[in-house]
Amino acid sequence: MFTNTIPNNTLSPSPSVPPSVASSHVKTKRLYQVWKGNNKFLCGGRLVFGQDASSLYLTSFLIGTPALTFCIRMLVMLKEEDPHFSRPVLIGGAVLTILDFIFLFMTSSRDPGIIPRNDKPPESDEASDMNTTSMEWVNNKTPNLKLPRVKDVIVNGHTVKVKFCDTCLLYRPPRASHCSICNNCVQKFDHHCPWVGQCIGSRNYPFFILFISSSTVLCIYVFAFSWVNLLRREGRLLAAMSHDVLSVTLIVYCFIAVWFVGGLTVFHLYLISTNQTTYENFRYRYDKKENPYTKGIFLNFKELSCYKIPKKLVNFREWVEVEDDIPDESFSSDIEKGFISSKQKFDMEMGTLYGKDGMRVPGILKDLDYSGIDDNLKKKAGEKEGSYDIFVPTDQLKSKTGGVNPPEEKQ
Ligand SMILES: [Zn+2]
Ligand SMILES: [Zn+2]
Repeated sequence: MFTNTIPNNTLSPSPSVPPSVASSHVKTKRLYQVWKGNNKFLCGGRLVFGQDASSLYLTSFLIGTPALTFCIRMLVMLKEEDPHFSRPVLIGGAVLTILDFIFLFMTSSRDPGIIPRNDKPPESDEASDMNTTSMEWVNNKTPNLKLPRVKDVIVNGHTVKVKFCDTCLLYRPPRASHCSICNNCVQKFDHHCPWVGQCIGSRNYPFFILFISSSTVLCIYVFAFSWVNLLRREGRLLAAMSHDVLSVTLIVYCFIAVWFVGGLTVFHLYLISTNQTTYENFRYRYDKKENPYTKGIFLNFKELSCYKIPKKLVNFREWVEVEDDIPDESFSSDIEKGFISSKQKFDMEMGTLYGKDGMRVPGILKDLDYSGIDDNLKKKAGEKEGSYDIFVPTDQLKSKTGGVNPPEEKQ
């Protein structure tokens, strides 16, 4: 039997409402607790990570292990050999490693520039005075509202197309894009970096640049001083190598790693010099379009060096009132506890777990295309009460049962 399990949540910011005000139907929660993106939060929503934040363990291991090995190697040398050489090299290596981890953490734990979602699509007034050449319309839940999928915006004399985001229900600002992994629209979206497990956007790009550059410098540093350690040994090089396998391993490891991090740093220096994001670079190449943002190499570099990190658009710690019409405890508690799987979230976003009208579709009907028949069924449901409850929206069910939930629902 159909149970009314639609989490009919409406969020309204109420920054000053303490949790004690929450009634049985309206709960007050922090925004991060009900955030619809795939982010992970720590420290009560102060730290915002991407969906794949666990990849930080691997990244930390790949950077930390050789760096720590090198530092321990220098520490041993400090006691055994020339301390005037070992001490500054050790301090240099330790400082670079610490800086590298700080920049990694700053890149990964910051809100990359997430754009707040809309609860409902923009007003039709806004849509009517839009400059658009689009013949494609947003397939909206409101039938009378016709929104063009693409609208034109003028940037530095160039026409830039901005797209409507069906998930966030907004026209993305120029340079913004929707990250499919984190499920958010992000300002000046560069790319989603799987190594830091976070989107790279307007608010963490400078830290990302510092992270990849410091990783490159650390790599070259360990590589160079491992060579120096070998060459400082007396006797032939091959004999020195066989006596110092650790230095040889570090040389090989850093030689391989520097191609990745160094290559990435050089690529981003090129992007900065042309004022492009990674996403735009691929798109311009694909569309064979001109870049409207470039101001010349010097000014492009100056723009990043004098870059003022924009303020957060979303305050994940603000209190929001969540209207709770969720009688099915099993489902609601899954969402609240964050145990809902990404597949379920994806289904919800794509409207497969729920019908297009926000009505739940039972598992057996999930894959059926009922778009042509649901209107008829809804009419019939109106004529003959209870026959097709399966497609009746929450509010209709409520009015039928006088606001009381159907008897088969679990409370
Ligand atoms: Zn979006
Ligand atoms: Zn992302």
